[in-house]
Amino acid sequence: MTNKKIPMRRCVGCGEMKEKRNLIRVLKTAENEFILDETGKKNGRGAYLCKSVECLGKARKNKGLERSFKMAVPTEVYENLQKEMEMFETR
Ligand SMILES: [Zn+2]
Repeated sequence: MTNKKIPMRRCVGCGEMKEKRNLIRVLKTAENEFILDETGKKNGRGAYLCKSVECLGKARKNKGLERSFKMAVPTEVYENLQKEMEMFETR
């Protein structure tokens, strides 16, 4: 048994620490676009969310994404993220 440290990240929705691989990264690109980065390998500023529409809703309410990115997140971004998140959820 190797005692390898599991990377943990905090969900900006529910605020719980979870294994990184169970979370999805919300990424702000250089073009100021917000996308879901499934691989977690793209460059840019990121915040983590559970793969759950519920946590996205919580992040919207508690402004977790705004805090992470230090900027306003437009409504249409949340709507796009929600659509993408629904796809991840049903997969
Ligand atoms: Zn969460």
